[in-house]
Amino acid sequence: VINVTTESVLKSSTSTRKTDSKYLDIFRVQTEALLAIHDFLYREELVQLMPVLLSPVTDPLNHPVYDAAINYKDQELQLTKSMILHKQVAVAALDARGIYIVSPNIRLEKDLHSNRHLLEFSQLDIELKKTSANEFMSMMESLMACIFRRVKIVCSEELERLGSEIHLPKRPFKIYSSLSLLEEFGEGYESEISNLEKDLFWITDFNREFYDREDPDERGHYINYDLFYPEGYQEALSGGERDYEYEVLVRKIRERGQNPSDFDAYLDYAKKGLLCPSAGGGLGIERLVRFLTKRIHIGETTLFPRVPDTKILM
Ligand code: AMP
Ligand code: MG
Repeated sequence: VINVTTESVLKSSTSTRKTDSKYLDIFRVQTEALLAIHDFLYREELVQLMPVLLSPVTDPLNHPVYDAAINYKDQELQLTKSMILHKQVAVAALDARGIYIVSPNIRLEKDLHSNRHLLEFSQLDIELKKTSANEFMSMMESLMACIFRRVKIVCSEELERLGSEIHLPKRPFKIYSSLSLLEEFGEGYESEISNLEKDLFWITDFNREFYDREDPDERGHYINYDLFYPEGYQEALSGGERDYEYEVLVRKIRERGQNPSDFDAYLDYAKKGLLCPSAGGGLGIERLVRFLTKRIHIGETTLFPRVPDTKILM
């Protein structure tokens, strides 16, 4: 169970920055993890797209953050919070099995202070065309196994110096419903179950953003999932099957107290029938590296940490 203050961890990491090989070891692990990701997704016949950082529309998220928009020649442009809406457009536009993007996400967090939140991080965003939640989850399990295997073999010396031992995940991963976990553990169920588990696992059935697909058999239930790390490291990925029909999207935006006109650019695609069924998810790269290298604070996985409530130095 991880519990050390942000300040003490980041202070110790800055003071050793110049002299030890810790960061080089961490970035070697990150490099191998990214190579495993590209290699795996290439073999799965996905194509990589480049990220966009400015758009009239972005992910509304499921929690409040400060506004991150700029004005350019009378157009208000949001800094990307995630590529989800662009992924839906792209996966429908291309005759490919699926797409992926490694994209910077900007989230000016208001109240989230934890060892796993940054204001700016990188997300591996994957979307598969006309695919079910089960198929996506199974692909992710293979991908995680691939990453873990490669890093364990290629970076054995780095891992030893970092004091990390990688345990290859047993498949299939366990699946918990958020509804039963809430009953068993109360509000803090994510941290409780992550502390108890020894291996990667899934939590399903979250009630969240409008684009996650509503279960056609049961209003108010959603076909979505989060992948979790064990040993207290918590959330790795969020994703789901998607809704894509104009009327359904507009209703769900309204039900969340949001304004459909904020999503005009995206809803235009839906109205013209230019979205399609898909499933996917986003994996935080820094959180992955944090888990692989067993760092206490996510800020230790980057030379340029953007930690909530902490001055950005460079
Ligand atoms: P979300 O769709 O908001 O769950 O984001 C997808 C994934 O990105 C999460 O499962 C995390 O791995 C990662 N992530 C989300 N927010 C942050 C953050 N503030 N700092 C670092 N990683 C994050
Ligand atoms: Mg999430």
